[in-house]
Amino acid sequence: MNHTNEMFLVFDSDSKNESFARTVVAAFVSQLDPTMEEIADIKTAVSEAVTNCIIHGYDNQEGKIEMGCKIHDDIIEIVITDKGVGIEDVEQAMEPLYTSRPELERSGMGFSFMEAFMDKLEVVSEVGEGTTVKMEKAIKH
Ligand code: ATP
Ligand code: MG
Repeated sequence: MNHTNEMFLVFDSDSKNESFARTVVAAFVSQLDPTMEEIADIKTAVSEAVTNCIIHGYDNQEGKIEMGCKIHDDIIEIVITDKGVGIEDVEQAMEPLYTSRPELERSGMGFSFMEAFMDKLEVVSEVGEGTTVKMEKAIKH
C-alpha cells in the first residue's frame, strides 16, 4: 500500500527563516533516505523559492509564507506560496538570467536552479494575489 505523508507550515517572510525552511524540508524528506546530493538539491531549491517570496513577493515587507510538503511513493512534492505582488509574465520570469531587480545584484537564476535541481517545477501567479511554486523530486534508490 502506498501511504501519503503531508506537512504544512506558515512562517513570517523574513530572511532569518530561509535556513529554517530548508532545514525543515530536509528533515521531512529524510524518511525517504535521500543521498547527501539529493538533500543539497532540495535545500537549494527551497531556499531559492523562499528568497523569492521575501525579496520579490513581499519586497522585504511583512507577509506570510506557506510551505507544504507531501511524500507519496518515493516522491517529495513541495509547494511554497506567498500572497504578495505576483508575477505579470511567468514565462519571462522563468527565463535564465531574467531578473526584475538587477539593482539588487540578483542574477536571475533562481527559477533555473529550481528547474535544474528538481524533476518538476510549476509556477502559478496572479498580479496582486501572489505566487505559488510547486516542485517535485523523485528520491532514487
Ligand atoms: P536570483 O534568484 O538569481 O537572485 P532573481 O530572484 O531575480 O535572481 P529568479 O529567482 O529566477 O531570479 O526570479 C526571476 C524573477 O521572477 C524575479 O526577478 C522576479 O521578478 C520574479 N519573481 C520570482 N519569484 C517571485 C515571487 N514570489 N513574487 C513576485 N515575483 C517573483
Ligand atoms: Mg530568485
